[in-house]
Amino acid sequence: EVLLEVRGLRAAYRGPGGSVLALDGVDLDVRRGEIAVLLGPSGSGKSTLLHLLAGLGGEYTGSIVYRIPDFDPRRDVALVLQSDALLPWKTVEDNVALGLLFRRVPREEIRTRVHAVLAEVGLQGLGRRRPYELSGGQRARVALARALVTLPRLLLLDEPFSALDALTREAMQDFLLRLHAEYGFTALLVTHDIEEAVRLGDRIFLFTPQPGKVAHVWENPGRGK
Ligand code: ADP
Ligand code: ADP
Repeated sequence: EVLLEVRGLRAAYRGPGGSVLALDGVDLDVRRGEIAVLLGPSGSGKSTLLHLLAGLGGEYTGSIVYRIPDFDPRRDVALVLQSDALLPWKTVEDNVALGLLFRRVPREEIRTRVHAVLAEVGLQGLGRRRPYELSGGQRARVALARALVTLPRLLLLDEPFSALDALTREAMQDFLLRLHAEYGFTALLVTHDIEEAVRLGDRIFLFTPQPGKVAHVWENPGRGK
């Protein structure tokens, strides 16, 4: 069952030297419940694609269609960015609560859900710290918690672990697989790391160098091994 259908997606940036083509006719489907991985080199348009899918604006031609009933990208999509993008002056709890504040969830419910999700990601007791008082792995967990607390139907991940050392990165990859098994969200993760793609992806979409388009789709039944 297809959750997201992208057809002929083209996007360009206007610059001083003329326009720069970032996406050159992207075709891809994301199936409900899978982890789809978009593997491509730096500059191939992966971040541009995720921003468009998250409805964060930007001009494009072609189509982005969410194929399941009552799907509202502003409510049902969560985006985890490359740098964890946590607000340094806010506590872990307040950072995680942000997505719920935007969604106008009542305060009492926010407290309960934030505590529950922090326990879920192994950060119980650290809610009052600021991001700079955490390790890289812990910050990555906060970024995941902030996305998961909104119960997204589609989780978009933009190289979420690329800033971590190799060991922590592996731990976080395993952790993401565990969360995925538990929560059952659909995920689209972009990376330039082949090992990460093979560990995480049910299907891997191989992207061309800039401007990006899907050159090959690879089924990966051995995911997680
Ligand atoms: P990736 O995420 O795969 O590294 P991006 O989507 O960030 O690729 O970038 C794709 C192309 O678009 C690159 O050539 C990049 O330089 C260009 N680009 C990205 N963002 C902007 C921007 N805000 N203005 C102009 N060009 C941009
Ligand atoms: P990292 O050491 O980079 O945080 P992990 O995210 O895999 O790597 O951490 C493993 C576990 O250890 C997590 O549950 C994390 O919350 C906990 N942990 C790591 N460092 C600390 C610390 N300084 N204080 C409390 N718990 C910690």
